[in-house]
Amino acid sequence: MSAFTALRLPASRSLRAGIAFTLPTTVFIALWLQFQWGGNHLTTVMDDITQIVAPFFAAGCCLVAALRTRARRRFAWLMLGASAAVWGLGSGAWAYYEVLRGEAVPYPSLADVGYLSAVPLAAVALVAFFRRGEASVRHLLDGLLVAGGLLAVSWTTVMGALFASHSGGALENALGLAYPIGDVILLTVALSLLRAARGEWRLALVLLCSGILLYSIADSLFTYLTTIGVYSTVNGMDVMWVVAYYLIGIAALVPSGQPDSPFDRRWSTVSVVLPYGFVAIALLVAVAVNLHGGLTMFYVWNVRGLLGVLLIRQAITLRENRQLNRHLEERVAERTRELASRERHFRALIQRSTDSTTVLDSGGVITYQSPAIKPFLGYRASEVVGQPFAMLLQPEDAVRFQSVVSDLTTGQERSASLELQLEHRDGTARVGEATLTNLLGDADVGGVVVNMRDVTMRIRLREELAHNTVHDGLTGLPNRTLFNERLAHALRKNKRMKSATTVMFVDIDHFKAVNDTKGHAVGDAVLVAAATRIESCVRVSDTVARLGGDEFGIILEGVSERARAVARRVVEAMQAPVHTGQGDVIASVSVGVAAAMPTDDVETLVRHADTAMYQAKARGRNQLALYDPATHAHMLDEMQLQSDLRVALPREELRVHFQPVVDLNSGAVVGGEALLRWQHPTRGLIAAGEFIAAAERSGAMRDIGRWVLGESCRLAGPWFRDGGRRSTGSASTSPRCS
Ligand code: GH3
Ligand code: MG
Repeated sequence: MSAFTALRLPASRSLRAGIAFTLPTTVFIALWLQFQWGGNHLTTVMDDITQIVAPFFAAGCCLVAALRTRARRRFAWLMLGASAAVWGLGSGAWAYYEVLRGEAVPYPSLADVGYLSAVPLAAVALVAFFRRGEASVRHLLDGLLVAGGLLAVSWTTVMGALFASHSGGALENALGLAYPIGDVILLTVALSLLRAARGEWRLALVLLCSGILLYSIADSLFTYLTTIGVYSTVNGMDVMWVVAYYLIGIAALVPSGQPDSPFDRRWSTVSVVLPYGFVAIALLVAVAVNLHGGLTMFYVWNVRGLLGVLLIRQAITLRENRQLNRHLEERVAERTRELASRERHFRALIQRSTDSTTVLDSGGVITYQSPAIKPFLGYRASEVVGQPFAMLLQPEDAVRFQSVVSDLTTGQERSASLELQLEHRDGTARVGEATLTNLLGDADVGGVVVNMRDVTMRIRLREELAHNTVHDGLTGLPNRTLFNERLAHALRKNKRMKSATTVMFVDIDHFKAVNDTKGHAVGDAVLVAAATRIESCVRVSDTVARLGGDEFGIILEGVSERARAVARRVVEAMQAPVHTGQGDVIASVSVGVAAAMPTDDVETLVRHADTAMYQAKARGRNQLALYDPATHAHMLDEMQLQSDLRVALPREELRVHFQPVVDLNSGAVVGGEALLRWQHPTRGLIAAGEFIAAAERSGAMRDIGRWVLGESCRLAGPWFRDGGRRSTGSASTSPRCS
């Protein structure tokens, strides 16, 4: 720790430099004066030089401080600097007589002009250091009390003796008295300034006033020693002036804006009792003098004056205190009004908030409830206070809530958020978004605060949205996405539990015709009726889904035996007419049934059920078909053929071959049979018998028939025109075409 830190001195380069100069020079001159190195004359020279250097050092430092600070304080530092400078000039005059002229310094002399001029300049400087508003009548009276005390001491030690001596002329006596009076004035102002000064400025003032105090003591001592005729040219007490001006210089170098220190707090107590201390000093001095039998009217009037000032001061203090009290009472009343208004403000916010605020004790019992509970759960606030919070919750949520409360009250976390399932007074379910905050340790609340918002509508909407994404809007059944999810789940369970799953595809027969003849609304009614009927054929645990259009899917979990019975029930259920606004509609269904193999995945099983359904359609509809792996290949082949047939016409793959009809008697060609052939890109030339049935099932036959007729006529036309001559060379009979 540096010496600066230890002494609580602020770190400033100029301050360090100032201390680095003053400390060694003080020690140096003190030692020199003590040991009088080089004899009396040299010591006198050294003494006089330091008496000049020290005040000019202080003047220089004051100039630095004046340049650093603002207007009012700048003036004060300049005046203090000027005071130090004139004192230094006085010392210069003293040295001139003593060292250059080698004679005793006359009294009064130019030196006294310098010394005495320093006093009013310093007093003006100290007064200028007061801030605006700091100087009050009470401060002035305090100053008078201090001055009275100091005067008593000075009169007893210096002034009284001077006054009584009448040794010199009137001027000499007056000048003699001017020194101690000046000192008393300076000390009084310095102490008053010190009392009034604020923390950030006090360190500089303490140094400054210490300098003034030392200066005054040195001055008074000098006057006293001179009066009693024992002051010699080389005197150890001269160091006091040096130190006094060094302290003033150092004070000027302390940067302003120092923070409050513990010293400041102690000082404020000292400063309150300081004036009384000086009154006590004056009294003690008077008593002591009286004991020695030297009590004069000076002491009597000094004490009387001081007591009078003290009375006035107390009266003023009393009035000030009363004013202060009144002011404080007004402030307290104002603050109370403010607080009450703020409390009303916050109460209104809570009372009118749509969010419910509840305070619970550590046992979960409600100690406060805001009115927002009424629209939320149907209870009045007063009805729930004193009740356990759990009474508002759905039974299954009470335990969870209690465990969150215990976690909060015992653990590290102060707050938790959760969704609560609540019960309205009318028994309906409500959902609350709650934030729990543990304020058990807060003396103003002393509980767990539950802030809750009604999110029932939001949650319902969210659930509805989630439901809609996996359900069919028309029938309310699960859609294909949910169907596939449930099937995947069932297949996984299948593998784990070695159970069975059966999938059925149900497709309404000729549904397009219903739409076309009766309209879409009737079609919709048929779809809804079909959904209800299919659902009535299965168990609640089974899944019925609308896969799209007029197609439904069924998942039967864990059974394979009842699958055929269920499928039959579905086909039979659809035999009954559906009653619609447009009359009755009969909508039969074709059902494909596929049982899951252990290796089947969702896609395979769905394909199998679809194939089986396709078989049921192919067999004439209004029936069920079980998926048969043996016929699967045939089905696939047929489906491929149908798909190829759809592009055969546009790709011109169909051909017409003619088979002539010959008259056996005449040997003439009398007609021809047009035979349809398909030049398949991979299978080669296919006879009509192999694909006509598939063409009819796929509905492509009409277009193909029309094309065959046209193509036959186009090709046979020229042949008819030449009467078949080209083939037979005979025109006796007309040819026929079949
Ligand atoms: P098939 O016996 O071969 O099944 O003949 P189909 O006429 O039933 O043919 P398909 O199953 O391919 O026709 C399904 C029709 O369902 C096609 C479409 O116009 C109709 N459709 C699809 N969605 C709806 C719907 O939401 N409402 C109504 N009314 N009709 C729908
Ligand atoms: Mg259909």
